[in-house]
Amino acid sequence: MDREHSADNRNRFLLPLMAVLLVLLLILLFMIWSVLSGTMQIPVLEAEPTPTFTPAPTRVNLAEYYHFIETQQIPVYDHREGRLIVMDFETYIIGVVGAEMPVGYAPEALKAQAVAARTYALRKILRGGCQTYPEAAVCTNSSCCQAFISDSRMEERWKDAAGMNYNTIAEAVMSTVGEVLVYHGEIVDAMFHACSGGRTENSENVYANALPYLRGVESPYEDPMRTQDVEVSFEEAVEKINTAYPDAKVSMDNIRSAISLPEIFPSGRVKTVRLGEIEIVGKKLRPVFDLQSAMFTVETTDTGFIFHVKGYGHGVGMSQNGANGMAKHGSTYQEILKHYYTGVTIEGDLNHALPSDSPAATPEA
Ligand SMILES: [Zn+2]
Repeated sequence: MDREHSADNRNRFLLPLMAVLLVLLLILLFMIWSVLSGTMQIPVLEAEPTPTFTPAPTRVNLAEYYHFIETQQIPVYDHREGRLIVMDFETYIIGVVGAEMPVGYAPEALKAQAVAARTYALRKILRGGCQTYPEAAVCTNSSCCQAFISDSRMEERWKDAAGMNYNTIAEAVMSTVGEVLVYHGEIVDAMFHACSGGRTENSENVYANALPYLRGVESPYEDPMRTQDVEVSFEEAVEKINTAYPDAKVSMDNIRSAISLPEIFPSGRVKTVRLGEIEIVGKKLRPVFDLQSAMFTVETTDTGFIFHVKGYGHGVGMSQNGANGMAKHGSTYQEILKHYYTGVTIEGDLNHALPSDSPAATPEA
């Protein structure tokens, strides 16, 4: 009886034990299958990207912002040299102003450019940095971030004048150190262009978004006003249009009446172009005929077309030539910026910033 009883006991425990082992085995087989088939991933330790930078505060908190500007070294990808260079934020801004605006422009225009370039860079950084080179805060390719000129390239370009030019640009940057353009608490998208042709453009007429501070405004003092006449023979026009837009179906038989401009924005920029059998937005004709801006008219001659173009660039935000003209007519950089960026305030003035533990500001004289 006792022996039978103990055998019963063994069976009573053995069966559930085997069942548990079977379940564990099935789970193990399932996990192996999951890993092999890729449905489960084994965590992999990834090497930390070097160097890293701390994203800027997303809203403008001046104390955080001062700290960011004063302490940040940012990784800048030099696309000409193909390497990452770590530098002070304001040193980077000196290189941007030197590359983006002629150094001979009036000092107040250079200051306006410094604030616009700083604002543009900071917004880019706080939105995650350069999109082409993820390891960089910004890159030096103007079609991605902003153009930049290094000290050594300043020497190549400006020779003996390099030191003097550097000091001129550094003066514009350091006399506005920390200052950025803000609209209702947000760092603005401080777009700028070489020359508006007399009036800047609403952002939504060129890009997707209508931004309240990027409104078309008069730009009365463009100095120098950029114009361009582009002559194209009918043969060239047929070839270029067919290459870019085969659906337009232009030929030597119909080319004389193939280009017309049915819609023009109030600024004078072309809204739509009829091109043979299709219609395209005005700015898309720019690359087809290397037009410097979308502010153009077209003249038909006996042998081809002449595009009469005013301005240079997209036309949104600050016109650099217009800024130079305003400066020569006595405007300060603050007046220039507030003219081209509707409703903005200028914040972050580090030259007059107080240490955060100072309880009260001394009123300025
Ligand atoms: Zn970039």
